[in-house]
Amino acid sequence: MSLTEPIFKKLCIIGLGLIGSSIARAARLNDAVKEIAALDSSPQVLARVRELGLAEDASGDMRAALKDADLVILCTPVGAIGAVAKEIAPYLEHGAVLSDVGSVKGSVVAQVAPHVPQGVHFIPAHPLAGTEYSGPDAGFATLFHNRWCILTPPAGESDAVEAMAEFWKRLGAKVETMSSEHHDLALAVTSHLPHLIAFNIVGTADHLEQVAKQEVIKFSASGFRDFTRIAASDPTMWRDIFLNNKEAVLEMLSRFNGDLEKLRLMIEKDDGDGLFDLFTRTRAIRRGIVEQGQDTAAPDFGRTH
Ligand code: NAP
Repeated sequence: MSLTEPIFKKLCIIGLGLIGSSIARAARLNDAVKEIAALDSSPQVLARVRELGLAEDASGDMRAALKDADLVILCTPVGAIGAVAKEIAPYLEHGAVLSDVGSVKGSVVAQVAPHVPQGVHFIPAHPLAGTEYSGPDAGFATLFHNRWCILTPPAGESDAVEAMAEFWKRLGAKVETMSSEHHDLALAVTSHLPHLIAFNIVGTADHLEQVAKQEVIKFSASGFRDFTRIAASDPTMWRDIFLNNKEAVLEMLSRFNGDLEKLRLMIEKDDGDGLFDLFTRTRAIRRGIVEQGQDTAAPDFGRTH
């Protein structure tokens, strides 16, 4: 296949926020599809999509948008995904690939799979790329460059999996395949728990009455600032992630609480060697991430949710 030959003929994106609009931009820039149609529950978003020229069809006509679409990607918040799948199911073309970008996979599969018509290939996906911004103006074409995209396909869908892997690689991503259970556990520790900690620590600082808000802002260079960036992530998205990956997040949270207690005891017992050993190990992990090019030096790149 030549680099400029489109992988799919018509892509229909549902939900043109940060991720959906980035897919539209990247798919167009990299000739991954011939034509793009956009659907969104918000008329304002569709108007903006038309102004930005992100799709050939952003009229909001569901039947027209899905007609001849051989790839449909659900880019709405996880909590809305089942209802959207149900609504579009009657209009999906036989042979089409249906995918999504939801940050949680087990719950998405449970919500969507019952509505997938015979002859439609459902290949769930999660690009590990994002920022703390939302909406069609926040997207950009290079968002997925050198980021992982995880596919969690059912068995027996090798052609559709291959096409989806090609699609994401064309957008600049690296692709890995795993089960949705494994995905949800891995993401609970690498993404969901760190976000929970950030939401909590920023909330704690906010509640501390003896620390004036001004001081929180003034001295925020010392570590707190990075937490505030993570804690600024979209409230709808993160509410949906925690409610839809409850089991794995609670398991990781209880392990975290156990480790935090060990850390507390080390401080209490003046265990300098223990603290030094732990910080040496965590420093090595950070260096490994930087060596693999998964560092996020630029402010707009690569928050991985
Ligand atoms: P976003 O910027 O808020 O965009 C979501 C879009 O979907 C909005 O335009 C929203 O419209 C629309 N929408 C909501 N309900 C809908 C419905 N029922 N039908 C059609 N459109 C609907 O969110 P995002 O950051 O792009 O996230 C989208 C998905 O990507 C989520 O599932 C998230 O888990 C996943 N994801 C996000 C990131 C990240 O860093 N942000 C990274 C990887 C994966 P309104 O604004 O009017 O509600």
